[in-house]
This record gives sequence, C-alpha cells and structure tokens, in this order.
Amino acid sequence: MTADVKKETMGFQTEAKQLLHLMIHSLYSNQEIFLRELISNASDAIDKLRFAALADESLLEGQGDYQVQVDVDKEAGTITIADNGIGMNRDEVVEHLGTIAKSGTAAFMENLTGDQQKDSQLIGQFGVGFYSAFIVADRVAVHTRKAGDASDLGVVWESHGESEFSVEAKDKEARGTSITLFLKEGSEEFAEDYRVRSVIKKYSDHISVPVIMLKPSVPAAEDEGEEVTEAAPEYEAVNEATALWTRSRTEVSDEEYKEFYKHVSHDFDEPLSWSHNRVEGKFEYTSLLYLPKRAPFDMWNREMARGLKLYVQRTFIMDDAEQFLPLYLRFVKGVVDSNDLPLNVSREILQQDAAVDSMRSAVTKRVLDMLGKLAKKDGDDYAEFWKEFGQVLKEGPAEDFANKEKIAKLLRFASTQTDTEAQDQSLEDYISRMQESQEKIFYVVAENFNTAKNSPHLEVFRKKGIEVLLLTDRVDDWLMNHLQDFDGKQFQDVARGALDLATDSDEEKAKQEKLEKDSEALVERLGKVLEAQVEEVRATTRLTESPACLVVGDHDMGAQMRRIMEAAGQPVPESKPILEVNPIHPLLEMLDQEPDEDRFADLASVVFDQANLAEGGQLEDPAAYVSRLNKLLLTLSGK
Ligand code: ADP
Ligand code: MG
Repeated sequence: MTADVKKETMGFQTEAKQLLHLMIHSLYSNQEIFLRELISNASDAIDKLRFAALADESLLEGQGDYQVQVDVDKEAGTITIADNGIGMNRDEVVEHLGTIAKSGTAAFMENLTGDQQKDSQLIGQFGVGFYSAFIVADRVAVHTRKAGDASDLGVVWESHGESEFSVEAKDKEARGTSITLFLKEGSEEFAEDYRVRSVIKKYSDHISVPVIMLKPSVPAAEDEGEEVTEAAPEYEAVNEATALWTRSRTEVSDEEYKEFYKHVSHDFDEPLSWSHNRVEGKFEYTSLLYLPKRAPFDMWNREMARGLKLYVQRTFIMDDAEQFLPLYLRFVKGVVDSNDLPLNVSREILQQDAAVDSMRSAVTKRVLDMLGKLAKKDGDDYAEFWKEFGQVLKEGPAEDFANKEKIAKLLRFASTQTDTEAQDQSLEDYISRMQESQEKIFYVVAENFNTAKNSPHLEVFRKKGIEVLLLTDRVDDWLMNHLQDFDGKQFQDVARGALDLATDSDEEKAKQEKLEKDSEALVERLGKVLEAQVEEVRATTRLTESPACLVVGDHDMGAQMRRIMEAAGQPVPESKPILEVNPIHPLLEMLDQEPDEDRFADLASVVFDQANLAEGGQLEDPAAYVSRLNKLLLTLSGK
C-alpha cells in the first residue's frame, strides 16, 4: 500500500484551535503536566480494552499484559509514550484528536478573558488532555491501531499544533497507541531519563498499569578493554502500579489522593476534600469520593456527564455511572469498585439492581457526612463549597426525602442577622438565636438581595428584632416548598398569609384589633376601587415605614415561583394578592380624608402599584401608573 496516496491534511475544529493556542501560551509555567495527561489517556485506553476483552477475548491478540512504555531519546530530543490499549481507527483519530467533543466547550470559550493568568485558571477547570502535548512539543506524531484490526489499518496522525493536522495510513504490528513528542527548545528536559521518572512518580504512581522505562545501564567501567556484549534492553516499572483505592487509607498520602483526583476528574485543580471507604458485609465495595473545588461549566446542563467511575473487582466497567449518586450531588467525582456486580453489567442492569440501590444510598450518606465534616472544620472550605455548589445542594430536599434533615443542616442563608449578601448562616445558627416565644423560622423570598433586604414585610421583624432569612436564589421557592420544617420548627414566608407573631403580647393584639376597627371604612373603600386587582384589603401592624405591602394567600403560588414559571412560558394559576395597608401612615390618613372619588381611586392605584414595585414585581400597566403619579404630582403646584 502506498502511504502517500492516503495522506490527508485537515483543519482543526475552531474550538480545538483556540484551545490549543491557549494551552501553548498559558500553561508553560507548568509544563510537566503533559505527561500526566498522556499517561492518563494511555491508562484509560487500557481500561477500555480490558473491558471490551471481557466480551471478546480475541481483541487481546494473544497478548494480555498491559503496560505503558515511556522512552526518551536525548539526542533526537524526543519522548515517546506507547500503550497497548484499545487504540484508534482512522475515523476515531480524526474525531478524537481533531475536535473537542466535551460538553460545555462553548461556555468555556465564552468565559475566556484574554488575560492569561485568569485563562490558565479556567483551562484548569476545563481539563486539558491530549493537546497538552503541545505545551512542550512543536511536533507531535501519533501512531495507532485499534485492537482487533488488521496491522495495515494503522494510522499516523501528525501536527505542529497550529491549525492543521495530517493523517496517513501506516502499518502497525502491535495494537494500541504510540505518541512521540518532538520537544521544543526550552523543554529538552523531558528527554532526560531522571526528569521523566520523577514526573511519572509524582503524577502517575496510582495508575493501575505499570509505566515502564528502560533500566539505567550500569556503566561498564571495571572491565576496561574488554568488549561489552550489548544486552537486550531491560525495562522496569517506574510507578507503584496498584489501583489507589485498593490500598489502605493509611498507606496513601494526601499527595497521592490529590493526583488520583486529577486523573479521575480531568480537573486541573486540587480537590476540596475526599472520603475513602471499604465496605464489607452484605454488599462489598470500595468507594473513593471527591468534592471538587470549582463547579464545571456545564453543571446546569441536565445532560452533563456525571457520576462515578465504576469498577467491578478492579476491572474498569464504565465512566459516569450516574446510578450511584442522586442528581443534587452531581458534582461529586470518584470511583466505586464493587465485588457483587457481574462484569458484564450494563447501564440498564444498574438501574434495577438491589446492590446498586444500597450502594447509592450509602454513597449519598458518605457525601453528606463529608460535607458535614467540612462545615464543622475551621476555615473557608465550606464557604468555598457553598459558593460553588450551594444552589445544587438546594435541590436536595425535593429529590431526597430520606435525607432531608441532613441536607437542611448543610444549607446556608443570608439573613437579617448580618444583612449582608453572604450566604453563611445555618438553620442551627438561626434556631440558636430565636426569641423565647418564637415558634417559626421566618424567611422572605425575592428576586435579588436588595429587594429582599428592603422588603416592607421585614419592617415589623426588624422593629422586634426577629431574624428573617433572605432568600434570593432561583431555586429558593422550590426549596422552601419541600423543606417545610427543621428541628421541629415550621418555616414561614413573611409575605404569605396573615401575620401571626407568637411573640405578640396581649397589648399588641389589642392594638391590632383597634386598628382594624378604626380603619374599617377605609379598608372597605379601598377594596371597592381595587376589586379587580386584589383578593382582599386589610389593615396591618406589620408595617412601620411603608404605606402598604402585598401578601400571598396561604395556598397560592409565591411571587418568585410565579415569575419563573411565567418566564418559562408555563401556565400559572390565576390568583390575586392581598393588599395590607398601614392605616397610620400619612398617605393612608390622607386617603381616608379624600372626598373626591376619582382622586381616591388614583391614589389607591398608586399605593397598590408601589407595593408591587417594592417586591420587585412588574406593573401590569406601567404607563398608567406613570400618568396617575404625574397627575398627582402636578396637583402639588396647584395646576
Ligand atoms: P479526555 O481524556 O478527557 O477524553 P483527551 O484530550 O485527553 O480528553 O483525549 C481525547 C480523546 O482521544 C480520548 O477521549 C480518547 O478517545 C482519545 N485518545 C487519546 N489518547 C488515546 C490513547 N492513548 N489511546 C486511545 N485513545 C486515545
Ligand atoms: Mg485525557
């Protein structure tokens, strides 16, 4: 076969080109990571073959010893990483090494700032991979053949890491992939045996296949003059080569745990925390679970790859086994290795296996415990976690009823206690500060922090020094619908239903009654002119500064939920708010005295619209509001 005919040059996908460029220019300060990435890929390829061979042993081509071989050539300035894993055929080479298929690539690209310092942080979050070869090489040649294919189906992929690559047919006897890096000026150190060994030790000790290098030759100094017969080259394993999670906790250093995290998560950053457990009993399995430091770009994409790497008796079975974690813990990374599942287990089987169910609930508990520990620890770790993943965890009470209380303990809120936007108050904190006769946990839900903080509903709470949680995340209404109570205390939305402060004294109750009586006529008059907009008008003592506020009926949909549903084009049930007015506010006193019915109606409408605005609501007819207000303003000058 004539190779030339088959040589073809192609352009990188735009995203791949951008990523390559960024990688080359922003990661030079941490060059050695290319070796971790390439060995990680080699180990993944071996895992894939090992799994495929369970069903079809002929793929092994009679050679079942797996290894990754690293060779350096100082003179030529090259380093070669060769594996006997699954390999790639021509189409796969073009697809996997010419494009970036990862979800979230577009989001990643949009986040780039052009500031190298910041962008190199981002690239860490995204995961680097094969293209990292170009950090140290100005030419990369990949020679690969898919396991089970004929030797003349081998392919060479080559690129200078600019805008194009070439592919060309070339025989390959051994299955698998061999990658040769032609090192750049300034990166020659990676052709040095000792340097490469130390990098492999550092990053790839935990890889379960041996990474072998040529044994250093013993200098033949003693027998001078005698011709030394050239011995066959001998290789030795440079790494530990046992799957890290099979080792006992006490034998594994923090450094090793961190490196292993980078391997399983494709994350560049260190993990925030981890939990490693072996479980014996009815079901036997090992789990090693990690909390990342940063949220991936695609966390809000329901289709994002999530879940753990599944092994059965140390054989890799699949990536992203989502059956072992609930959706609200989708940020957790790691490994489960089961002794009970069959080696030919499929995703379908996983969905209905009793062992999987039991592992899932145990793994879920482990993660919640790990979070609990992190929350108790001094320092900023938990705050950091909450900032990145708090909103996801808030989905928990709706999804996982059994662990509701445990999850609730992990929630953090902004509160009138601090009046800052930081979500750093726990429900336990809140309860410890509750007033003696206070029975409920009060909260307000609003579109953003300022609307929440300045909500008229808080006036009476501030006056009485009762703490209110300030909820402003999109999931909050949803969360509170499922939370209902904590530690025996009910949650109460301060903008919902009649105000019932158990802290009210008899004197205050009498005051409310008197107020209601005195304002009966005004309330009735308001009710008439606002009939179309409100369910009811009532007098309240909950306001001190504001003339009026809107209250949601006990069983009606909250304002935030309503806005979210409307924005999503969902039908929302008809329901009108209740208008509560503060009869001793000068504006209401003025209204009460207003003889002119038209003017009364205009003023009443303005009061209602303003109550709506103060909640962050949208006016149904803003132009009408403006024109009414202007009319009223003009009367100030007597025109
Ligand atoms: P990732 O490992 O996160 O998928 P990479 O950029 O490291 O991303 O690799 C891209 C793809 O190229 C891999 O998913 C795999 O399909 C393929 N690949 C890379 N290296 C090898 C290899 N040594 N053997 C077989 N396939 C490989
Ligand atoms: Mg990779």
